[in-house]
Amino acid sequence: MGELVYGSELSKELRAEMKLTVDQYRQKGMRIPCLAVILVGDNPASLSYVRGKEKAVASIGMESRFFHLPEDASQEDVEKVIAQCNEDDTIDAVLLQLPLPAGLDETHALNTIDPDKDADGLHVINVGRLYSGQKGFVPCTPAGIMELLKKMNCSISGKRAVVIGRSRLVGAPVARLLQDAGATVTVCHSKTQNLRDICKEADILVAAIGRPNFIDSSYVKEGAYVIDVGINRLDNGKLVGDVLTEDVLPHVTAITPVPKGVGPMTICMLVRNTLYAYEERQS
Ligand code: NAP
Repeated sequence: MGELVYGSELSKELRAEMKLTVDQYRQKGMRIPCLAVILVGDNPASLSYVRGKEKAVASIGMESRFFHLPEDASQEDVEKVIAQCNEDDTIDAVLLQLPLPAGLDETHALNTIDPDKDADGLHVINVGRLYSGQKGFVPCTPAGIMELLKKMNCSISGKRAVVIGRSRLVGAPVARLLQDAGATVTVCHSKTQNLRDICKEADILVAAIGRPNFIDSSYVKEGAYVIDVGINRLDNGKLVGDVLTEDVLPHVTAITPVPKGVGPMTICMLVRNTLYAYEERQS
């Protein structure tokens, strides 16, 4: 039987370490790190994500500042708030909660964030840094996935990895991180033929599809490490991942559950990126 590896537990350990660091800064009389969170509109899911992020930041003694714009805010309104955060020396990192309401240009807005305050690592300069092996901000969900694989004691180098999904938020950057760590990586998507056969060869399988319980044991190699990124709400209100956990669990070495798997690690990596931004700015 495989091991269920909980991001909720790992994130607690990592946040406790980061809290010690922040406490030391406070004891030395230094300013504490601060994350600005920008939300446009009142999407209930986004509001709940934003609250979770603010809570995580507060839990380690950091500051957060919330900028809430109305649903009908213009591109200029959003970018004005971003510019204000960029110029404010007491703000270390800026998060623009996605998705933006229809009609707004996400990519343009993300690229107006100061790349050295880019908490989500989605600015084109940080994407470039990631793909050229330079130090920078790594998107939070992929960074969390790498921490989970470490927790699973999965030595990545030399392994076959399959990532299902090629989004800029998850699939593409995690594929790059796995490749940098020495895996041979295949990226699959909605046009991929013979998906099951490809997945069956994976020592490491990352499912970032957004389809409830899509991956069952027929897709999984015996002894694989499986990361379930998907968050899907069923009609009965239950949250499930992209992987049918109970079917897959007996066949794997380790797997992350949904909920309490990748989700808490994403928030934890946002906190880590904020601390990183602060430390880079201090130095
Ligand atoms: P996305 O932008 O919608 O990307 C989904 C990817 O899955 C696309 O590349 C798509 O292929 C591929 N896909 C869709 N149907 C497929 C199929 N039948 N076979 C193979 N590939 C298929 O979503 P995302 O932002 O990457 O997120 C993916 C999932 O992770 C969602 O459930 C999201 O809620 C969840 N998520 C969780 C966290 C977390 O913290 N836990 C963070 C971010 C996202 P094409 O490119 O060809 O369309």
